[in-house]
Amino acid sequence: MFGYSQEALGAESDRLHQALRHAGWTPSECGLIAPLTLRIRDLARQQRAVILGHSYQTPDILFGVADYRGDSLGLSRIARDCDADTIVFCGVRFMGETAKVLSPTKRVLLPNPDAGCSLSEAITGEDVRRLRRMHPDATFVCYVNTSAEVKAACDVCCTSANALAIVEAAPTDHVVFLPDTFMARNLAAMTTKRITGFDGRCIVHETFSAEALAAWRERVPGLRILVHTESPPEVVAAADLAGGTGDMVDYVRRSPDTSFMLVTECGLADRMRVEYPDKSFVGTCALCPHMKRIDLRRVLQVLEAPRPEQIVQIPPEVQAGAAAAIERMFEWTARGQDASRPHSNAGEVHRSSNP
Ligand code: SF4
Repeated sequence: MFGYSQEALGAESDRLHQALRHAGWTPSECGLIAPLTLRIRDLARQQRAVILGHSYQTPDILFGVADYRGDSLGLSRIARDCDADTIVFCGVRFMGETAKVLSPTKRVLLPNPDAGCSLSEAITGEDVRRLRRMHPDATFVCYVNTSAEVKAACDVCCTSANALAIVEAAPTDHVVFLPDTFMARNLAAMTTKRITGFDGRCIVHETFSAEALAAWRERVPGLRILVHTESPPEVVAAADLAGGTGDMVDYVRRSPDTSFMLVTECGLADRMRVEYPDKSFVGTCALCPHMKRIDLRRVLQVLEAPRPEQIVQIPPEVQAGAAAAIERMFEWTARGQDASRPHSNAGEVHRSSNP
């Protein structure tokens, strides 16, 4: 396929298997995708494109073709700082929008523009304007999992890693936190400020229960349970660490412990199995149907001939407002910095060894 020699295909298949075997891939499965990964990497080189893979993507994308893997903020910063002409963002729509806001002169491509997010879709710019009329005294903080339009309507944006620092740095005692209801409740327990939430939920993280975590703790001695802050408060309370995906990656990297449960989307555990084959990752995770709408064939198609809807466009008036909300996040995090998370402004990102 694509004119590659048997020798080239064999070498690529071996390269893939070295990484993907830790995620359960067989040699024959790696052989099947070898022509695709070779072609995608060749096209990316020819087009001066950088491929970004969110941690919830499948291992064949993260370890087969991505130049960088990480969380949405870390990857968006790479999109901004790299000298590529084109960014292929393997992630959901709001992530491509954030990358475009931070790097407006680059072409940002989404392999599947229909891949959404239940949090991002829970709220619109019009909802924010209505809430602003109801709460004129409040600072409006939106989670990074929002559209560019919602970011532009808010004062400041945040991530799961820097949310508390942003709330503490807000100039008012009343903060409207959008749209994740669980994050708002988790934050309210950590600050003296008045937090008004919204009713957005992540369809992945709302499914976890404290009872399931307790059962796993009994079953696996020494287990460390790491929970995403998009989860319900009782699940967060049962964790050894609550944070974003970057915090979880950092915890696993630094910890001398060997058994972990990552209470988040399954892709992160697959990624960690490949990166830390000597550690074990057990128990509860859940698939995000939106994240899993991206695959190698779509990555290839978007590089070969992107359709108009796959090229991220942000209206100029939205671009300016959303960029201001993100820039304020960088400024305010430095002001309200939580000393236990000195890198919370950077996002998490890992350079890949894909050729
Ligand atoms: S895991 Fe949740 S927050 Fe992340 S993209 Fe899927 S629905 Fe959205």
